[in-house]
Amino acid sequence: MKKFTTLIASIALGASLLSTAAFAQDKGTVGISMPTKTSTRWISDGETMEKLFKEAGYTPDLQFADDDIPNQLAQIENMVTKGAKVLIIGAIDGTTLSDILQKSADAGVKVIAYDRLIRDSANVDYYATFDNFQVGVLQATSLVKGLNLDAATEPKNVELFGGSPDDNNAFFFYDGAMSVLQPLIDSGKIVVKSGQMGMDQVGTLRWDGAVAQARMENLLSSTYTDAKVDGVLSPYDGLSIGIISALKGVGYGSGDMPMPIVTGQDAELPSVKSILAGEQNSTVFKDTRELAKVTVGMVEAIIGGKEPEINDTKTYNNGVKVVPSFLLKPVAVDKSNAKEILVGAGYYTEAQIDN
Ligand code: BGC
Repeated sequence: MKKFTTLIASIALGASLLSTAAFAQDKGTVGISMPTKTSTRWISDGETMEKLFKEAGYTPDLQFADDDIPNQLAQIENMVTKGAKVLIIGAIDGTTLSDILQKSADAGVKVIAYDRLIRDSANVDYYATFDNFQVGVLQATSLVKGLNLDAATEPKNVELFGGSPDDNNAFFFYDGAMSVLQPLIDSGKIVVKSGQMGMDQVGTLRWDGAVAQARMENLLSSTYTDAKVDGVLSPYDGLSIGIISALKGVGYGSGDMPMPIVTGQDAELPSVKSILAGEQNSTVFKDTRELAKVTVGMVEAIIGGKEPEINDTKTYNNGVKVVPSFLLKPVAVDKSNAKEILVGAGYYTEAQIDN
């Protein structure tokens, strides 16, 4: 009997220790709403945060919205219903979240805009991103370098592509790039032969590579039957792949038609391989693992009742307020430094980019 009582007591003690441990472990649910899986960066953003949150004792609720706005709204609503304390949102369309964010605020949920600014809402507490204007500056600087403009005696023909017009970042990338390109267009060193300029003419809805490919095909047949295109400003690797495929379709990249200088962003694997193979000229590396880390740090601060670390309080006005932000530094990558930077950072292994 005594043995039995001791057994029961120790089971009870074990159970209570266990539940204390479990209780101490669970710091609450964090909703992570990512826009899509079509680009590997968002998968890696989401999965890195999920892992870091688990390690820190949170319950992450990671959802991908397949670039479908109603889907993202439903997923966020569900996170709020399930009691998320903080929402981390990489918006599909930065202007469509006002209602759900009001509900979240009413429920006391804090909101971090992840990579893409959420517009037209007072209920965005923080913004974690890269220096998006600088991304555009780096893209245009690589383009100018690739065109060897300093040594050029003739004007160079360049076409411009922009990102999705419902993504605030797209305007920052475009404006950053134009801060470098516009003076060269004004002085006649660069010619945009199609005349298509401005985000309303060069934007690519939902960052869709097929849309960019179709537009490039149209530009080639409408504007470049008698002239050659020398460079293409592309704001994202997924678009660059489509653009390059349109260019190859009419013979660029072989014989006496060198591949134009095509830029990019995100250092996605197919583009890194294309850069090493001498097709795509360059990309911009944004270490999404660092962005994930900064964001998890923000959540830890919020839940611990502290102010998250921010380094920018001026740049990101979302139409209602300036959202306190943390900006990370993007890095320009081309054939000369791709391995050093990407393998050096442990972003890819040598074997991954070599084959
Ligand atoms: C991100 C880029 C990405 C693009 C398309 C932008 O908001 O900042 O890194 O290339 O979306 O996914």
